[in-house]
Amino acid sequence: MVVGRGGYKFQNWAQTYGSSPELYFQPTCVEEIKEILDLARQRSKRVKVVGGGHSPSDIACTDDFMIRMDKMNRILKVDKEKKQVTVEGGMLLTDLNKELDKRGLALSNLGAVSEVAAAGVIGTGTHNTGITHGILATQVVALALMTASGEILECSEATNPEIFQAARLHLGSLGVILSVTIQCRSAFRLKEIQFSSSLQEVLDNLDAHLNSSEYFRFFWFPHTENVSVFYQDPTDKPPASKANWFRDSFLGYYLLEFLLWISTFMSGMVPWINRFFFRLLFASKSQRVNISHKVFNFDCLFKQHVQDWAIPIEKTKDALMQLKDWLEKNPHVVAHFPVEVRFARGDDILMSPCYHRDSCYMNIIMYRPYGKDVPHQEYWVEYENIMKKVGGRPHWAKAHTCTRKDFEKMYPAFGKFKGIREKLDTTGMFLNAYLEKVFY
Ligand SMILES: Cc1cc2nc3c(=O)[nH]c(=O)nc-3n(C[C@H](O)[C@H](O)[C@H](O)COP(=O)(O)OP(=O)(O)OC[C@H]3O[C@@H](n4cnc5c(N)ncnc54)[C@H](O)[C@@H]3O)c2cc1C
Repeated sequence: MVVGRGGYKFQNWAQTYGSSPELYFQPTCVEEIKEILDLARQRSKRVKVVGGGHSPSDIACTDDFMIRMDKMNRILKVDKEKKQVTVEGGMLLTDLNKELDKRGLALSNLGAVSEVAAAGVIGTGTHNTGITHGILATQVVALALMTASGEILECSEATNPEIFQAARLHLGSLGVILSVTIQCRSAFRLKEIQFSSSLQEVLDNLDAHLNSSEYFRFFWFPHTENVSVFYQDPTDKPPASKANWFRDSFLGYYLLEFLLWISTFMSGMVPWINRFFFRLLFASKSQRVNISHKVFNFDCLFKQHVQDWAIPIEKTKDALMQLKDWLEKNPHVVAHFPVEVRFARGDDILMSPCYHRDSCYMNIIMYRPYGKDVPHQEYWVEYENIMKKVGGRPHWAKAHTCTRKDFEKMYPAFGKFKGIREKLDTTGMFLNAYLEKVFY
């Protein structure tokens, strides 16, 4: 029998949100998950499942029952011919990457970190970049879901197709994702070329950049014209690195944290910091080749506040120029670098920010040097205003102030998803404060 423990304190990775679940469970099998849901029903408790706990919001928080899936982390099946792998929902992508390496396979795209769970990354619409690639959930070809009643639903394009299109970006609201089947590709190495440019050049030639590299992204350094462009493309070349020494040794980043901390007393330093670090870390061209996941992932060294909206791709220039103009007109507002700009192909996943449109993701951050909060409210509000004006949809895991009324306008399939959720979870077992704002 599975036993829940009291007194556990949950904190997300950035330590910006947490909760104190009444009972905390770490089930090891499907039967134990069913027991937990049975107990929750008997006691009228809500349930929240947590994967890697990396969401920079309260989406995974609960004060009732929390299920951490870290003991359900096995590979269940590998279909070498189809290059598909079925894993338990709690498997971290770090472990999956290693297992795929051994089998000559790889995920075709990945976000910045892999300490996230297979069911968790798809739960919030995690994405990377590359206009021929959708968000990570588009790599999912099947999944198994345990609903509030304890029933197990197998879902794919062929079986329960409507629930499948909802569950590929489930928001933790449909039940417990037991397993996920992912379409992989043959293992590959990526060559990354990083070079500097200006915002005007990149925005004027966006199509050319998008067509020049499979995984194109750029960093804009606010309060400057500086841009760092990253082209990442599959290669047969052996691993090699001609990178920037400061960047590789992380020394630059420790210096950055210290200077950002000083800038909390002298905010006027921030534009200077952005310029200085562009010169130190990104002004010269660098190049490296490595296994795909080692190039997709990078060490996120500092805690930060973050917003990341997806806007229609044709609005990229308009939105970035509006943000730049506003910062120039309001010099008392400071913005940390980088504004990371990435791209994703449109899809048909009901709650995907890229639903039915190719999109540009514009990620803004404010670091919290040594855990200290930096004022960012004015910047946050104006960024959201601009994103809304250009028809944006917020990343589900990151900060936003949207509620049901906004989502109804943003998502043509919102009503459909809501209907599926209400049918699968009639008592609201999987709701929490975050989801109440989304649905009520
Ligand atoms: C350092 C860092 C870098 C990041 N980089 C990127 C990036 O490059 N691109 C990007 O798009 N995002 C990025 N993110 C956001 C991150 O990818 C998402 O928050 C992702 O959802 C985290 O996965 P997780 O396993 O930690 O999920 P959690 O935060 O644990 O959970 C996310 C949601 O999934 C639900 N859930 C988890 N497991 C299950 C399950 N088995 N069944 C049902 N529901 C479940 C939870 O209840 C919650 O609703 C980053 C976050 C951090 C902290």
